[in-house]
Amino acid sequence: MDSNFVDYVKIVCRSGKGGKGSMHLRHVKYQPNGGPDGGDGGRGGSIILRGNHNYWTLLHLKYQRHIFAEHGGNGGRDKCHGTDGKDVYIDVPCGTVVYNAENGKYVCDISRDKQEIVLLKGGRGGLGNYQFRTATNQAPRYAQPGEPMQEMTVILELKLLADVGLVGFPNAGKSTLLSALSNARPKIANYPFTTLEPSIGIVSYRDHQSFVMADIPGIIEGASEGRGLGLRFLRHIERNSLLLFMVPGDSEDSRHDIKRDYDILLNEIERFNPELLDKHRVLAVTKSDLLDDELIGMLRETLPDNVPVVFISSVTGYGLDELKDVLWKALNSESNKLQDAIGEDAIVHRDKDWQLFQSEQHAEGVDEIVTVDEEDIIDLDDDEMDDIDELDDYEIVEPE
Ligand code: GDP
Ligand code: MG
Repeated sequence: MDSNFVDYVKIVCRSGKGGKGSMHLRHVKYQPNGGPDGGDGGRGGSIILRGNHNYWTLLHLKYQRHIFAEHGGNGGRDKCHGTDGKDVYIDVPCGTVVYNAENGKYVCDISRDKQEIVLLKGGRGGLGNYQFRTATNQAPRYAQPGEPMQEMTVILELKLLADVGLVGFPNAGKSTLLSALSNARPKIANYPFTTLEPSIGIVSYRDHQSFVMADIPGIIEGASEGRGLGLRFLRHIERNSLLLFMVPGDSEDSRHDIKRDYDILLNEIERFNPELLDKHRVLAVTKSDLLDDELIGMLRETLPDNVPVVFISSVTGYGLDELKDVLWKALNSESNKLQDAIGEDAIVHRDKDWQLFQSEQHAEGVDEIVTVDEEDIIDLDDDEMDDIDELDDYEIVEPE
């Protein structure tokens, strides 16, 4: 079944190689040993992820199997600097999580509009031989290759960014609460199971504030064992920053115990993903309009004491303002943990002569550059130079 709601794509990404430094010796009349003038290579383009709040899905990337950035241009004679490769921006909706497809490891997370993360760095350009001239070596016959490109096959996964996720068994009153609190309930997915689509609503609070609430059915119904909708669907709830547990106040069960029902839900959530237990929680006792004072009194005896509890009725509106207050307070007490981890698992295509680049050799002064290990430098004698077409055009300056 095809769907416009694309929440998962796999893309091969590759940054650009750095351009080679030029090995070039100038030939000028009356200046027989004209000296080195090979320019530096340009930088390779990077692959950069950027949050864009105009996107809600990953649909625009669905058919994009490869995203490659440009290589840097090679340096040339006359100290000519190679052109820099263009960076490629991949715009993604906020709430996109990036994994390395090779090993499934988490790479990074785009959660804000305009947030930019360099996924794969473009290679630095190699230094031209001009940069290697010294008092003792006035005509260096070597230049650096460009830094290699990086490649990673990534999985982009969209997680719904709701502030409040509703957790409760079927019939707990989740859908009813959502429609009571919010007007807009856009269908965000064309999932094939019509009764089981997540709906999200915007709840306005006080004057101009609002938060997003998502009713994600099926979280409980055997979901943690992978039955029913399966985890692919359920992962959406992992990003909700607060879980609203919902337990109906009315029950056939005479020993009705709110804490017991709450613990059962907690247990299900833990089996699905233990990290969810780190989230803030609020408990709503639903359908309170069906309870009389005596019953409410009995239920109060059984409330868990480590979570805020609100008695509500979505039908009469009882407790809904209090619920919003409690949710708002809990939401705003939470510091938003942003992870800006950059992938460390990029596969680096190492050119065999790459050893030339040690840590930071893009130094300002020539003095620092000569600290490069002599062994690591491609130093060619005249014969070898003839076979090397990797180093771009050079002239051997014959003494007159
Ligand atoms: P969900 O499965 O958790 O989404 O539950 P629903 O929102 O579909 O509600 C299940 C049933 O409970 C429906 O028949 C609702 O009309 C009813 N219900 C929901 N909230 C209330 C409430 O506050 N009071 C009463 N009396 N019934 C409710
Ligand atoms: Mg429902």
